[in-house]
Amino acid sequence: MTLPATRRTKVLATVGPATADARSVLRLIQSGADGIRINASHGRAEHWRTSAANTRHAADIAGRPVALLFDLSGPKIRLSSDVEIREIAAAQEVEFIDEDTPQNGAIRVRWPELALAVAPRRSEIVIGDGTPRFIVTEVSGGVVRARCERPGTLRPSKGVFVTHTEAGGPALTNKDLVDLDVAVEVEAEFVAQSFVRTGDDVALLRDALDARGSRARIVAKIEKVEAVENLTEILEHAEGVMVARGDLGVEAGPAKVPLLQKEIISRATAAGKLVITATQMLESMLSSPEPTRAEASDVANAILDGTSAVMLSGETAVGSYPAEAIEVMAEIAREAQAGRPFAVDIKAAPSDQAEAVMQSATYLAEQIDAAALVIPTATGGSARAAAKYRPGRPIIALAEDEVVTNQLALEWGVVSATLPAHPGKIIDLLDEALWSARAAGRLSNGDTVVVTYGQSGRVSGGTDLIAVRRVGAALPPGASGIDLAMG
Ligand code: PGA
Ligand code: MN
Repeated sequence: MTLPATRRTKVLATVGPATADARSVLRLIQSGADGIRINASHGRAEHWRTSAANTRHAADIAGRPVALLFDLSGPKIRLSSDVEIREIAAAQEVEFIDEDTPQNGAIRVRWPELALAVAPRRSEIVIGDGTPRFIVTEVSGGVVRARCERPGTLRPSKGVFVTHTEAGGPALTNKDLVDLDVAVEVEAEFVAQSFVRTGDDVALLRDALDARGSRARIVAKIEKVEAVENLTEILEHAEGVMVARGDLGVEAGPAKVPLLQKEIISRATAAGKLVITATQMLESMLSSPEPTRAEASDVANAILDGTSAVMLSGETAVGSYPAEAIEVMAEIAREAQAGRPFAVDIKAAPSDQAEAVMQSATYLAEQIDAAALVIPTATGGSARAAAKYRPGRPIIALAEDEVVTNQLALEWGVVSATLPAHPGKIIDLLDEALWSARAAGRLSNGDTVVVTYGQSGRVSGGTDLIAVRRVGAALPPGASGIDLAMG
């Protein structure tokens, strides 16, 4: 079959100084952004509140759900601000030390636990965007000795990345906890966690969200080598991951990023989790209205890898062509999906009955070449269960709860809309679902759809019926005249 033109891969846009006002956020959304990212590494609470309000307002005007993602800064280590600018030669031996410990000649770092955290002969210390780069040779008395592997220039306040840290700073800094209050206040549907190392790091954020009464879903940013090593447990704890190629490339080296991207996307998808591919996707559009061909290929490649969403950072936050960048990304995504994106094998063993029902419904939809899957859902779980098979037709998810429809806005292939509470009769739910799906998924009379629903109404995991229906002439809900509940 030829794939319909509905775009399946979602677009997430970071807001910043270039898109700080309501009109430019509206333009981002009208150009195709499905989610807006607030980056807590830049700006202040007042800016974030304004951006959140702009997003909600623009989504109302555009008349479709938009997800708000709040990205926490996380523990980012830096060189001391009084480090002198100097060249480090290959094979040169140096010493690193915490900035509060006096020691002549050592490179001072803002991190008291530095010496405790590094693993000799394993940890590498990477400065700035990748150079200079050191291997730790020895640790003694709070001093970290290291040998330069790749020459470069030391500058004050540069970022410091340490691979294979054994301890490290807290996963959530004091700043993160203060910023998290704002994320909860603006009811962000997603909170992204930077520099995650383990599943326990994610659990810490979960506790902090629970303590604040937030239902935000967690996106763990995979930007440390350790996070790749611990990906299985991170995927157990988080609802999604980000292939954070910027910092991941600093730690692992740019050459490793392409295959790591493929691995992270396929493992996240197999686990039924959201996956966002990020950083430098259309970098040249910071100052040019057209992407390079290499960038177009990179975006398309992430789509073929099966990513749920692609992200723009500086392009929309500080660039000269934010709306154009969204349009370009959306167009590349629409073109690229004709080459089938990576999907989980639709005959793979399901983990439980609820998943088996959604797998069968998705398979049925493929077999009969249905125009859409129509999925009334309480938590969004059923729609996500269908999305992991990356079906060749839209997944129209209908939820009562606006938080759920906004969360689903970032999921691959999902068109989400609200469905009012129904009185409980199956036939009414079916009518209402078809009625709502028709508008949300732009279905036409005569289109065949596969509808899933639950005998006990819309409860989590309650989907136990699959129906094939033809979208008929427009009949408002309740006008079918058939009452199955009596039969
Ligand atoms: P950042 O994360 O933009 O917050 O640094 C993404 C990345 O590192 O690629
Ligand atoms: Mn990062």
